[in-house]
Amino acid sequence: MAIPDEDVAQVRAATDMVALVGEQTALKRVGRRYVGLCPFHSENSGSFSVNAEEGLYYCFGCQASGDAISFVRAVEGCDFVEAVERLAARAGIAIRHDDEGAPAQHGRRKQLYDVLAAAAAFYHERLLTARDAGGARQYLRARGYDGAVVRQFRLGYAPAGFDELVRALRLPTGLLVEAGLAFDGREQGRDAFRERIIFPIFDPGGRPIALGGRVLPPELRATDRDPGPKYRNSPESSVYQKRRTLYGLNWAKQDMVRAGEAVVCEGYTDVIGFFRAGVPRAVATCGTSLTEEHLRLLANFAKRVVLAFDADSAGQNAAARIYEWERRHSLELAVAILPAGSDPAELAESDPDGLANAVRDARPFLAFQVERAIGASDLGSPEGRSRAAESALARVAEHPSELVRDQYLVEIADRTHHDPERLRPLLETLRRESLVGPSASKRGGAARRPDSTRTAAEPLPSDDWPAYDDPGGDGPSASDPVSDVGRPPSGGARQSRRGSGPDETVPRTGRGRRPRASRAGLDGLALAVHRPVEVAELFDAVLFTDPLQREAFEVLASASELHEAIAASAPSVADLLLRIAVADLETDADPLGTFVALTRAAAEAALAAFGREARVAERSGSPAGTREHLEKSGVVRRDLELLRDAGDSLGPGAPAIDAAKRLVAWMVQREEDGGGWRAST
Ligand code: ZN
Repeated sequence: MAIPDEDVAQVRAATDMVALVGEQTALKRVGRRYVGLCPFHSENSGSFSVNAEEGLYYCFGCQASGDAISFVRAVEGCDFVEAVERLAARAGIAIRHDDEGAPAQHGRRKQLYDVLAAAAAFYHERLLTARDAGGARQYLRARGYDGAVVRQFRLGYAPAGFDELVRALRLPTGLLVEAGLAFDGREQGRDAFRERIIFPIFDPGGRPIALGGRVLPPELRATDRDPGPKYRNSPESSVYQKRRTLYGLNWAKQDMVRAGEAVVCEGYTDVIGFFRAGVPRAVATCGTSLTEEHLRLLANFAKRVVLAFDADSAGQNAAARIYEWERRHSLELAVAILPAGSDPAELAESDPDGLANAVRDARPFLAFQVERAIGASDLGSPEGRSRAAESALARVAEHPSELVRDQYLVEIADRTHHDPERLRPLLETLRRESLVGPSASKRGGAARRPDSTRTAAEPLPSDDWPAYDDPGGDGPSASDPVSDVGRPPSGGARQSRRGSGPDETVPRTGRGRRPRASRAGLDGLALAVHRPVEVAELFDAVLFTDPLQREAFEVLASASELHEAIAASAPSVADLLLRIAVADLETDADPLGTFVALTRAAAEAALAAFGREARVAERSGSPAGTREHLEKSGVVRRDLELLRDAGDSLGPGAPAIDAAKRLVAWMVQREEDGGGWRAST
């Protein structure tokens, strides 16, 4: 199963890379590129760069890189063919398969998306127009859902008949079963959703991946059949995994970025309630508790996550896990305090301002826990105050930061009328217990047992995310692509190559600064990547003295376009080309100035090598050779002078340009004669 290259290229060219990446992380424009938080590693600063024109991305933190196809593969965990199909569908392009006809496993996901979209459309239409949906419309109207809400959230109605969807879609039963739309086994061929309000669940890109169905109240039901559970959701499938799905993210992500905040609630109607209350940044877990994958996804859009669960479920989250997630994903988790016994969907109807205020006044997770612990005791008696202090301190003990624990200690002492110094030993005991005691065993064998010798300030090692590659205090910033372009990826293939290049022999001019040859080489490569036509006649491979840069230039010069060059490159070269493609180097590089700088650096190196050859020739007693060398090096020196004296006014006919061209010709000749850079190193 293969897709013709020209179809792949067409799909690549038609893909809006910024929109595609924007489904996973918020991007902002910086110069000609777009930057954002990396979807592949956890970070505070935006190391992730996108070149919209070339459709390439590169992360200066974790070195994740590639094009639209590799992005889709990494995000969705699918294969190449499937990624191309997914992108083709987005762009509305029909692609061919070389061996059409073979039943394709890879096409299964696409079929699932298609059948789910068809089902969502069928149910939506039913709700809007069908006579038998009258009860459903009545129910929704009673909850204040008007036509605009129904359309925005693409709500639907599953009719009461046994197999209305199955008959309408006329698709293989196996596919409908896999999509969770029809039953298997005894009830094979019957609709899975009957007489229910349908809430389609979309992925962040807006494709339906599952359905949720809610029963109608008995008085609005047409049949007296046992309606089953109040909510029925699609089972998991290859396109729907609950642990990484957030209902509403496709609509909410925009406001999350604007507000820097995400709201997480528990149900579809809660999400809709938040939107109606003017908080359009709410998402819901789909019948599962909050997972780290949910938070990782949210962290790409917002740094503050407000849990708007009812107080009991919010309190049940394992605190140690929450703090670890906060640390790993640089998030702040807060809890919105909702009136007891109410959920956001109800509040949105009865008191929309109260709902919005609850989000605004959300407390940090620990403050919420402490509040609950104190609130559960009677503060009117000494015994009650002691119990309150003890149970509140037990929550504080779970927090990894000593500074945070200390502040809560003081507050708790104050509210329970204790001397803080009397409570401190208790907090310390509770802290030790929280590290080695019951909480560690409660989390089961799979959980990492905290190391009791580790100090609280020391972060626990991350076990499932690549570590953030911190370049260090005063080094180049990981998010600064310009200073970073020349930096070898840590542990990457370039390490081994660099040792063999002449770059190593050039003394560094200072911390973080690149030697001039290398910097000019980067500018030269940037021009070759971004403005290839302008430099095609001017540049030659001999100008690149860094072996990696030279290889990159050679592969660029022989390929018809950038993607082809990257595909044909060794990993270290591809890495360099990708870094350059997403960086903004081209904006300040002047082709003629860069040409002169490159020529000067290359010619100086060549002249030094030439001098060494002359001395060898002299010792071996070759006067003719020596004289020839002297004459030639005199010419080279004069041309080099012209380069050094060249001011800013470099027109195409300037003496320095002509001199540079002569020097390039000389270096090319030397290489052809077996000298030059390759022989001299
Ligand atoms: Zn990254």
